[in-house]
Amino acid sequence: MNEPNFQIAVIRGDGIGVDVTDATLAVIEAARGRVGGFRLTYNDLIGGAAYYRESGQDMAPGAEDAAGDADAIFLGAIGLPEVRHEDGTEISPHLRLREMFQLYAGVRPVKAYPNVPCRLADPRAAEIDLIILRESTEGLFYTAAAHNRNPVANDDEVQDVLRITRPTTEKLHDFAFRLAQRRKAKGRGGSLTCVDKANVFRSMAFFRQIFDERAENFPDVERRYNYVDAQALDLIRRPWEFDVLVMENMFGDILSDLGGGLVGGMGMAACGEIGDEHGLFQPAHGSAPDIMGQDKANPLAAILSGAMMLDYLAEKSDQPQLADAAGVIEDAVQAGFAENRLRPMEFGGDMGTTAVTDELLDLIR
Ligand code: ATP
Repeated sequence: MNEPNFQIAVIRGDGIGVDVTDATLAVIEAARGRVGGFRLTYNDLIGGAAYYRESGQDMAPGAEDAAGDADAIFLGAIGLPEVRHEDGTEISPHLRLREMFQLYAGVRPVKAYPNVPCRLADPRAAEIDLIILRESTEGLFYTAAAHNRNPVANDDEVQDVLRITRPTTEKLHDFAFRLAQRRKAKGRGGSLTCVDKANVFRSMAFFRQIFDERAENFPDVERRYNYVDAQALDLIRRPWEFDVLVMENMFGDILSDLGGGLVGGMGMAACGEIGDEHGLFQPAHGSAPDIMGQDKANPLAAILSGAMMLDYLAEKSDQPQLADAAGVIEDAVQAGFAENRLRPMEFGGDMGTTAVTDELLDLIR
């Protein structure tokens, strides 16, 4: 039988990005081995701050095109504190990839697992299972993604622009409503909250206006609203009441770290960045220079991002066996924590990157 074969562009990047990517590919291959019915071919692409230091380029020649040709892109983490552009900003080719491939939908699950230290005392915190959907191509990152876009940048003043466009926002809200529908079908909350600051910024009022327009096509989804400052409060006070939250780029950047903190730490924060044609998957954390090279990183954010990649490929290609493989990984993480077999150092446990990965491989095989 001819099994479908998917091309995966792999950018390991810097610091712990390398280790967590290796862990992810091993786990994906184990899940694939269990489910069967598809193959993955990995194409290693070079990029990152270490590469910039030696070459003056943040990605190897041809790497962007190769990433664009792949069925999905997996990225470890990019950035090193001592390597910067002349203006002090970090090496961030992934921001350019977001822009090039119009990866407007940043999907960041925030889910509590058993035995992972919870920062909230309320027992309902065990029920936290929400998604932060962060617009990822415009908003307040619009000028940050391309340095030459700053309208004013001189010795006396620098401005950044918060840009909300109709085409991107329509697609983002449609994506959010569909995501809420899919979660409802799986028995989850199925509500969608528009997080903004529509009472202060015209751009945010526009964001909310388009949310209301698109909502007309999704009458089955419960529609809610929250200002971003109130949402920060509510993520601490009653996060278990939320399902999908859709928001502008910078708000999503901040609240998704808060979300990661709520359910343990950055080592659990998975991320998918999805556009109409392309999908890039990476842990939401950075290269963590403070623990790099020490086998201390928790690889689960990357591994759960890998599971999201399989889900994405399943939907894109209509091949449900990839979603089954994603389910195998998610179930193994869930069971691993419930049985106390996964004890990452990040949470005071005794298991480094290798030990967590090996245990997960055992759970899967
Ligand atoms: P970026 O700006 O790219 O998000 P950063 O330097 O602000 O990067 P991280 O690299 O994510 O942030 O690191 C933030 C903190 O979280 C560090 O103390 C780091 O050690 C810790 N951390 C991040 N990822 C992990 C992980 N996978 N396992 C354990 N600790 C992690």
